[in-house]
Formats: sequence, structure tokens, C-alpha cells
Amino acid sequence: MARVYNFSAGPAVLPESVLKKAAEEMLDYKGCGMSVMELSHRGKEFKEIFQNAEEGLRQVLNIPQNYKVLFLQGGASLQFAMVPLNLAGKNKKADYVNTGQWTKKAIKEAKKYIDLNVVASSQEDNFTLIPKLDANNFSKDADYFYIATNNTIYGTAYQQIPETGDIPLVADMSSNILSEPIDVSKFGLIFAGAQKNIGPAGLTIVIIREDLVNGVADNVATLLDYKTYVEAGSMYNTPPCYSIYIAGLVFEWIKQGGGLKAMQKHNQDKAQLIYDYLEASTLFRSPVKKDSRSLMNIPFVTGNDALDAKFIKQASDKGLKMLKGHRTVGGMRASVYNAMPVAGVKALVAFMQEFERQNS
Ligand code: PMP
Repeated sequence: MARVYNFSAGPAVLPESVLKKAAEEMLDYKGCGMSVMELSHRGKEFKEIFQNAEEGLRQVLNIPQNYKVLFLQGGASLQFAMVPLNLAGKNKKADYVNTGQWTKKAIKEAKKYIDLNVVASSQEDNFTLIPKLDANNFSKDADYFYIATNNTIYGTAYQQIPETGDIPLVADMSSNILSEPIDVSKFGLIFAGAQKNIGPAGLTIVIIREDLVNGVADNVATLLDYKTYVEAGSMYNTPPCYSIYIAGLVFEWIKQGGGLKAMQKHNQDKAQLIYDYLEASTLFRSPVKKDSRSLMNIPFVTGNDALDAKFIKQASDKGLKMLKGHRTVGGMRASVYNAMPVAGVKALVAFMQEFERQNS
């Protein structure tokens, strides 16, 4: 069996050792004669899996004790509604920074419930940069301030986390959580869909400061209330058990690899190989402004649609898969999440060089 290099933006490549371990345990989890998929979520085996996953995440991200870790479903997209429904109870008001499609969707959803101020946007620059923020534009009475730390489609990322003082900072970290160390205490709430750096789709992780768990209005669904998950230890109903199990194995893999400092170095090294080549290339270029570039999602273009299509096809034939850019922006995009090995990036750059020689 040959594994390819999978540059998909998500669901994305997972560590091979994790997949092997899951395969080993598929039919008989630790001698219980059942697959993890067949275990009761209330049984002792799954309880241990669940506790290990939460503990693993707490250790890897160094999550302070006054933060709750919640395991939810509904994708990162459900958080676009849950965040305003839960966090805007006081003034029904929040500030958002618009840096791409995922913040646009979050803004559209939140506007159903609250009064919303877009304090900065890079839409006029086709989302090729993270806009400069001016604290004078921030609302003094916002219930929270919302950003997406990494913009999966456009390949931009904040190089510095905004200072919002007493206003809780909410971050969509779906595409760069666990890629480098972060100071969780700077955030009121962090959420991430699992299907990039955490595990299989179907699981969404929420990390929320305890004092922000204040419940929702009476007419809001029970399952949209963070308090429901806090009070029931994420087991008000059946959680996404198998995804949580794989996530636990991924957290263990990160720990064994030296934690997030080591992961950051691994990711910086990979991204640099691609960005350095893009700077030197006369055929390919990065559309993203230098001071806004993501370590996780790296778009690049030739400027010629036919040539881009030829590149994507030939790369795929060589086992370099899923390099097509998002349907709304075109070109190419290499997503190089934690589990993408350096060898995959070297193979990509070598193929880009070969393609450039043949097509310049
Ligand atoms: N936010 C970001 C930054 C994303 O990249 C994505 C999906 N790729 C989403 C939100 C939406 O995630 P989901 O499909 O889990 O709802």
C-alpha cells in the first residue's frame, strides 16, 4: 500500500503512527473485544479515553485551570452561532475582524442575534493580508472581540494576537490550533473544528474561560448552551466518541514529538522551504503579503489558469495530492499541517522546480 502526500485543507493528513495504532486497536480495544466505535460512551473504557484526550490537550496547550475544555459536534460553523448566543448576553454587541470567508460566514450568522461592528477588513485586498487594527475603532461596550487566527482559504495568519484589554477575545483556530505554542490566557474562548490538526471531522473543540459560561436565553436550544456541556462534562448526549479517541492519540503524538515548541519548529522549517522557493521562482508566486503569511496553508499561483491546472494534474500523478486552491480563489494551495512530514514538502518543492524548468 502506498501512501501519498496529502496537501488537503481538511479533512487533512493525520500522523501515520496514529492511524496505525487505530488500525491495531480497531477490532479489539485493549482486550475488551470491541472496537472504540462500539463502546458505550458511559462505560469505563471510553471514560478513560475521554479523560486522556482532555488531559492530553490541556498538557499540550498548557490550558489554565480556569478554562473548560468542551467536546462538541456541529463543526466549527456551529460556533458562528453559539458564540454570539452565549457570549453576547450583556450588551448584545461584538467587534469582528473580517479576514476571509470563514469570518464572513461568522459575521453573517452573528448578525442574526447581535449588533455587530466590523472593526477592520481585508476584503478590499482580496483577503491577501491581515489588516492593521486600530484600537480607537474598538467598541468599549462589546461583549467580545472576534478573530480567525488563520485563514485557511487565503493563507493568512495573525503574527501577533490583538490586545483587547477586558473585552474577551474569541478565536476561530480551526486551521492553526496546535501548530505552535499559544498563551491561552489571552483568549476568552478558542474553538476549532478537528479535521485539520486534531483528528477526524465531527468533533469541535471549545476552550472557554469559566466566567464566560453564563447560559443562553430561555428560548435557545439546550444543545447550543455551553453550560449544558460544562455541567455534563460534554456528555449531555452522545459525544463524537471515535473522533475524540483519535484526537487523544494525536495529542499523545504531539507530546512524544516534543510538544508545541518542537511542532512550531517543524512547521516553520516546512513553510520556509516553500516560501523561499516561491520568492526565488520566476514561474510561481505567493499572492499573500509577506507579513501575513500562514505556516499552515500556502497558496501559490502561476497567473495562468491552464498552467495551474496542468501543474495540479501532474503533481497528482506524482502522488502530491489535493493541491488545487479553494474553488473561490483558484490557483494552488499546499496545506502543510502538523502531520505533513518534511519529506512531503521537499517532494513538492522538487516537483515545482522540475515543473518550472519544463514550463518557463
Ligand atoms: N473556520 C475555519 C478557519 C475553517 O477553515 C473552516 C473549515 N475549513 C471552518 C471554520 C468551518 O468548519 P466546519 O466545516 O467544521 O464547520
